[in-house]
Amino acid sequence: MKKYSIGIDLGGTKILTALVSRESGEVLFSVKKKTKKAKGSKAIFHKMIDSIEELLDEKIVPKDEISSIGVGASGQIDRENGIIKGACNLDCYELNIKEKLEKEFKIPVFLGNDVEVATIGEMKYGAAKGCDDFVCIFVGTGIGSAIVKDGKIIKGATGTAGEMGHMIVDLNGRQCACGAHGCLEAYASRSAIEHRIEGALKKGRQSSISEYLKDGKSISSSMIEKSIQREDELVTLCVSEAADYLSAGIAGVINIVNPKLIILGGGLINAVDFFYQKTIKKSRSKCLPVPSKSIEFRKASLGDFSGVIGAANLEEYLQ
Ligand SMILES: [Zn+2]
Repeated sequence: MKKYSIGIDLGGTKILTALVSRESGEVLFSVKKKTKKAKGSKAIFHKMIDSIEELLDEKIVPKDEISSIGVGASGQIDRENGIIKGACNLDCYELNIKEKLEKEFKIPVFLGNDVEVATIGEMKYGAAKGCDDFVCIFVGTGIGSAIVKDGKIIKGATGTAGEMGHMIVDLNGRQCACGAHGCLEAYASRSAIEHRIEGALKKGRQSSISEYLKDGKSISSSMIEKSIQREDELVTLCVSEAADYLSAGIAGVINIVNPKLIILGGGLINAVDFFYQKTIKKSRSKCLPVPSKSIEFRKASLGDFSGVIGAANLEEYLQ
C-alpha cells in the first residue's frame, strides 16, 4: 500500500486540501482556500487544481507514493461515477470531479459526502477509533449525521440514510431548507439558534450578544459561547431549547439504532460546551432506561481536519 493520500474537504466557505499519512492519519501539509467569492463549478474546480498543485510543489513526499485523491463534498453526489450532482451552497452542479482530476493528476480519485468523510476520519483515527458501532452527529450551520454498523456507514436504499437533521420534531413547525416543516435542523442547528436570537432582538429583547453584532456581523458559535459565559438570559434560553430538541432527536436514534457510542462534533459543539453537556444529559434522560445506562458520548476529536483525513481514506471504504 502506498503510504500517503490527498484529502479534500469541499465545504460551503472553504476548500481544505491536505497531504495525509495513511498509516498515522497525520496531516503533513495543508492548503486552505476560501470559496466565498468564487463559486460555480468552474471556479471551484480551478481552486481544487491550484490547491493540489501547491501541495505537490512542496515535494514533501514523492508523487508516486500518493495512492489517491479523496474528495468530501457537501450536497448531492454520485459516488460511483465521482460526480457532484448539486452543491447549492457552492453553486456547483454536475461537476465530474473524478474524471477531471484523474485526467489532470493521473492519480485515482474517490468522492464521498462531507459527513461521510468526517465520520471515516473519526472512526479510523479520532474519537471513535476502535469502535465499529456508533453514530456521528455534526452540529453547525445544519445537522449532519451518519450511522456506523460493524465498521460500515449505513447508506440505505438511496444513499441517504442517517439524515437525522431532517427528522421531524414539530408537526406544522418551522420550514426547513429541505421543504418539509418541523425538521430537527430548523430547531437545533447554529442557524436555528441564530434565527431565534435575531427574532427576539427584533422584538426588543435585550441581550449582551448585541455588543458583538456591530458592523453587520452575524451570530457565530464563539459569540454564543461568550454570551453564555456572561450568563446572558436570552442566549442561554435559546441554546437550552436547541439542546432540548437535539436530545429528543438523539434519544430517538439511541432507541432505534442502539449504538455503543455517540460522537458529537461541528462548530457549535466545539465552541459551546454548555450546549454539549446539556444535550448529553437530556439525551440520557429521554431515551429508554437500558440504552441510557450503556450509551457513551464523546466529542469528535479531529476538529477541522476530520474531513480531509477521512477523505484521504475514502478509497478503503468505497471499494
Ligand atoms: Zn428538513
